[in-house]
Amino acid sequence: MENEIRVRFAPSPTGYLHIGGLRTALYDYLYAKKTGGKFILRIEDTDQKRYVKGAVENLINTLKTVGLKYDEGPEKGGEFGPYFQSERKDLYRKYAEKLIAEGKAYRCFCTPDDLEKMRAEQLAKGLDPRYDGRCRHLSQEDIEKNIAAGKPYVIRLKTPNEGEISFFDIVRGKVTFAWENVDDQILMKSDGFPTYHLAVVVDDHLMKISHILRGEEWISSVPKHLFLFESLGWKPPKTAHLPLILNPDKTKLSKRQGDVAVEDYLAKGYLPETLLNFIALLGWHPKGDRELFSLPELIKEFSLKRISKAGAVFDIEKLKWMNGHYLRTLDLKYIAVKAKPFFEKEKIDIGDEKKFLKVVEETRRRVAVLSEIVTEAKKYYFSPQPNDKQKQILKSDNSQNIFRYWIEKLQDMTEISSQTINDLTKNSMQNLQIKGKDFYIPIRLALIGSEHGPDFPTIIGILGKKETVNRLRNA
Ligand code: GLU
Repeated sequence: MENEIRVRFAPSPTGYLHIGGLRTALYDYLYAKKTGGKFILRIEDTDQKRYVKGAVENLINTLKTVGLKYDEGPEKGGEFGPYFQSERKDLYRKYAEKLIAEGKAYRCFCTPDDLEKMRAEQLAKGLDPRYDGRCRHLSQEDIEKNIAAGKPYVIRLKTPNEGEISFFDIVRGKVTFAWENVDDQILMKSDGFPTYHLAVVVDDHLMKISHILRGEEWISSVPKHLFLFESLGWKPPKTAHLPLILNPDKTKLSKRQGDVAVEDYLAKGYLPETLLNFIALLGWHPKGDRELFSLPELIKEFSLKRISKAGAVFDIEKLKWMNGHYLRTLDLKYIAVKAKPFFEKEKIDIGDEKKFLKVVEETRRRVAVLSEIVTEAKKYYFSPQPNDKQKQILKSDNSQNIFRYWIEKLQDMTEISSQTINDLTKNSMQNLQIKGKDFYIPIRLALIGSEHGPDFPTIIGILGKKETVNRLRNA
């Protein structure tokens, strides 16, 4: 299909999926799904120095966990593969050679030393350092001599030296750059690998990409990409450069101020639903002031036109609030499945499925992340630990009288319900002549090791009769 929307997420596998990366992937996904187009994952792994073991698997897993399924890419395959740039090396070389043959690119034999000297001289003259294009003018004879002598070389693009280039970016509108600030870009490195710039242009063309969405930091590369597209006789995709994601102090989102890896948020117990909803709003805004959206709702609402130019602040408090909302409102069984690994990590026995569900149902009401469900559950339902002062309260005559009364009555009780527990509470208060705090605190301490917490029917509903009696006995 000639006019099909095809968008790609093209991460370099440097170790983990960055929050900004997930935003690009999400917007790609939303735009593709909205338009009936295709979402493609392409791994840009041509920088051998930056290779990190396990990074690709990690990236793919994170995308899977949050539920962004790609239509073409690693594992999945597709008509335009391979989807790893390291497996497409010959293609890039072919196009670089073609550009040389047409006089649009040239071999540069400058050594790192030559470049360093050039730089120092330019700085001394008060000029901005750049490649001065000296190898553009080598004679055919010199070139052949150098090659025969086995001198390493890179291939550079002959970019214009003067004038301007303007283009239209979907987010930023008309953008203009002066050519004098654009270097003769290296297309192929001396190790035989392409640079990002050559590989991205070749692949975006061959993979029939219609729209490029990516972070704002790439916008200064657009002139050379456009020139490369033109030099190869190809039509460039449209671009949308997404605004920066900022710390609350308006500096660029950084590791120093908090987590930037998506997997860290998942590990802390943020739900995929929260992360997608929250990240969607970092740079894009819906009509009106609604903030809560499921993925299908985002697909419906999404539009490239409502991506803003201004940087978006990553507000952790809002993230927590949103996660609390999803913890409380999504299907209980689903939340229990998500909470399970957190309990297992703490080696808490959750073999009693019914009790586990009740615990999750009760604790999810007052926490922000999944890991806090475990903290709360442990505190109240699995291994409550009263402190010394609380132990004193438990030992008092008053408390012991209540416990004895409750053990006896509970053992005779045939049914545990709000009604029977509330009746027991009322009757025991009357018969023992104990009221208020003196009554509630000892029972809570005995049952959940805390002076505060849910009401008695809820607690006993979760613990069950046997465990309740056991805890009262222990106390
Ligand atoms: N590989 C680049 C990155 O790591 C992709 C930039 C682009 O989307 O063109 O971000």
